[in-house]
Amino acid sequence: MKKAFLASIVCISLASCGGESKPTETKTVADMNPQFDKYKEQFIEDLWKIYPGWASSQGYHKYDSILVVPNDEARAKELTFAKANLDSLKSININGLSDNNKTDYYMIENQLKATEWGIIEMKSYEWNPSEYNVSGAFAEILAGNYDSLDVRLRNFYLKMANIPAYYEAAKKNIKNPTLEHTQLAIEQNLGGISVFETDLHDALNKVKFGEHEKQSIEATAKQAIAAIKDFADWLKKLDNKNPRSFRLGKDLYAKKFEFDIQSGYTADIVYEKALARKKELHEKMFELADKLWEKYLNKTEKPTDKLVLIKQVIDKISEKHVKPEEFQTAIEKQMPELVEFIKQKDLIYIDPSKPLVVRREPDYMAGVAGASISAPGPYDKNGNTYYNVGSLASWDKDRAESYLREYNHYILQILNIHEAIPGHYTQLVYANQSPSLIKAIFGNGAMIEGWAVYTERMMLESGYENSDEMWLMYYKWNLRTTCNTILDYSVHTKEMSKEDALNLLINEAFQQKAEAEGKWRRVSVTQVQLCSYFSGYTEIYDFREELKKQAGDKFNLKQFHEKFLSYGSAPVKYIKELMLSETNKSTN
Ligand code: ZN
Ligand code: ZN
Repeated sequence: MKKAFLASIVCISLASCGGESKPTETKTVADMNPQFDKYKEQFIEDLWKIYPGWASSQGYHKYDSILVVPNDEARAKELTFAKANLDSLKSININGLSDNNKTDYYMIENQLKATEWGIIEMKSYEWNPSEYNVSGAFAEILAGNYDSLDVRLRNFYLKMANIPAYYEAAKKNIKNPTLEHTQLAIEQNLGGISVFETDLHDALNKVKFGEHEKQSIEATAKQAIAAIKDFADWLKKLDNKNPRSFRLGKDLYAKKFEFDIQSGYTADIVYEKALARKKELHEKMFELADKLWEKYLNKTEKPTDKLVLIKQVIDKISEKHVKPEEFQTAIEKQMPELVEFIKQKDLIYIDPSKPLVVRREPDYMAGVAGASISAPGPYDKNGNTYYNVGSLASWDKDRAESYLREYNHYILQILNIHEAIPGHYTQLVYANQSPSLIKAIFGNGAMIEGWAVYTERMMLESGYENSDEMWLMYYKWNLRTTCNTILDYSVHTKEMSKEDALNLLINEAFQQKAEAEGKWRRVSVTQVQLCSYFSGYTEIYDFREELKKQAGDKFNLKQFHEKFLSYGSAPVKYIKELMLSETNKSTN
């Protein structure tokens, strides 16, 4: 089947060579899109066979009953899949693809290469025991609304059968794991047992299965629970004399950065840029805080330490915030205001037929508070996009006060820009105009987060809420993103100590101790992800400035935004390449 596909491509490219290409222009390239579209369809079908759990999480439920045992055989299958598809890609002439397909091509290629690298070089299946945890996938089956509970429970039952083998394979894979990931694995696995005890039991009470079937399900669940407990016990008692450091080290970090961020910049360059940005932000913040001192703290003596001075002014300004009961309505009220400002300043077209639905955070999300966008998955075509806003109603006074100071009058507006308009929500609306299943599945996180962070600055530069207070708070917000990058890079490649990390976050980025401690925990069990916001943002901002310089007076911000978003959730470096080639075409 694959061979026939290759042959047809060769025929078409030969035909085009003998065709009617004009002598002075570059040769017309045969249209590769129909073939590539077919290839993509098959690729995704095959992908889901190799990764049934991933398929379920994306809303593709054909393989819900399958739990892959993570052994050598499974990894060999993944490698074969990656190699075969990389070979197929080689036979496709990229020049014959539309822009949308070009970026899809690059993203598939990156995914496959990342798979190979992950299995052969990174080998986290050996040192990260927290990769082994089944409860989340099972919880999703129980919580999903895509099918009747009967059907979902029967898939749940079949899928459970492999749990003992799954954890046996895990035990065979693990070698000198890091202490941090070992601890996390113990906590998360034990925490997930309730899915097989209470949640499953509640679900079984809702269906009319026969006694025999119920008993078989309960018996299999018992074996699953025993396997999970055994795995946690095994980890606790593991004779781990030379645990691996949770710090990734320079080489693996650089490679992971390449695959995950897909930036035009290297990790080293992004780190240097973050350091420079931190310095710039501190200078700007001091200037503003010094200016605002009299207005907010006139009778107090000015501290000599610049960072201390900034912190005191920030604390004062943070006192301006909404009441707990007004939190949701304040957010709702801001949506049309943001749209109006964008229209007035001609920043980007906002489709009026797709207003964002603001809703109270559903119960299953409760506790996380704040605000977030939830978009339908790639297979849920008719699903709504919501702006979930948490309610502070059940919070005690101190907790609500501390939260509202963080999301004060100024930061709340920046949050709305980031999450909703013209941030994540607007980006999503544009991405849906050139739908791509590949981008929905492999969407580039650095581009998506980078865009949202970029719009914060762009809105303020366009005059939104133009005040010294707003700018100072924005700089603080941007400092968080900037310092996340410095932290991640320094911890994983430069042996930064916990003490230095907390100093960076608390004293230089003005974070609360609890937030900083949480960030330390996060950086010791993840790598690179904390960089995605700053990387994407910097790349977009730099690119815009480059175009501005080139075009001079002719630069049009609205056109830039609309063109940029028209490529969907692709890595910034490819969008840049395609946009530049188009500019060159039109000026030639
Ligand atoms: Zn207050
Ligand atoms: Zn975001």
